Amino acid sequence: MFTELKQKNEELMKKEMKERVDRVKSFPPTIGIALNRTCNVSCVFCLVGNKNNDMIDWNHLQRMESIFPYLKNVTLSGEEVLLHPDIWEIFEYFSRHGIYVNFFTNGKLLTEEVSKRLVELDIGEMHCSFHGATVATYNSIVKGADFDTIVRQLLYLKKLRIKSSKTIGRLPGPALSFHYVAMRRNIEELPKFLELAAHLGAKSVLVKYMMVFEHNRGLDTYKRSVRRLLSCDMAEKVEILIDGNNTYDLAELMNSYLGCLSQMV
Ligand code: SF4
Repeated sequence: MFTELKQKNEELMKKEMKERVDRVKSFPPTIGIALNRTCNVSCVFCLVGNKNNDMIDWNHLQRMESIFPYLKNVTLSGEEVLLHPDIWEIFEYFSRHGIYVNFFTNGKLLTEEVSKRLVELDIGEMHCSFHGATVATYNSIVKGADFDTIVRQLLYLKKLRIKSSKTIGRLPGPALSFHYVAMRRNIEELPKFLELAAHLGAKSVLVKYMMVFEHNRGLDTYKRSVRRLLSCDMAEKVEILIDGNNTYDLAELMNSYLGCLSQMV
């Protein structure tokens, strides 16, 4: 039932786009929701901190319920999404409506029980912040998390997905993507990290520059940084597909990053 609704909605949306209508009747097939502003770790480059308890209540989100049956994708972001008190209700709801769910996490809360529930619900994709390939580097950047523990948890999730695939005939979600913020202390570890990511069953690694902000003068510094970065010949971010063809020359990529990083404030 949902598949047909989504299909018809998408066809209507394409028609409306083509005809450039002023008022659309189709519903958005993709939405992003920033669920909360709380994290359970402190990355050295991140301004989030862990003291902000702002979050969107599931009861408020349900005011949009009329558009949910038309949705194909939802991205649940914020900071640590798994800290949201209604997260399982939200996951279950979207999963029941045949919606591909993307969510952001640092992996710290990925206990065996959490992994089992994610696989049972066949949640679409997990975007995991991970910024180093060794204990020393990772632990020095992601304060409050432990490299070995997260790796062990991610390996458990991988094994669980493979085990379930034998029953259901395909690899269930959540697919794994990593987000790696490149900075001086971890850029040299990028090749090693790609090996680790492949070992953990990741499908891609998104590498981003670290952007420098200054306390109370964030925007000015940001503009200066952006101006400098714009003079670099690298894109702001690069996605390396693990299970596809990697068209980037890694040495060249790292040199470009180092070049850009040296121009940062
Ligand atoms: S895991 Fe993400 S939100 Fe949490 S401190 Fe690190 S970068 Fe910030």
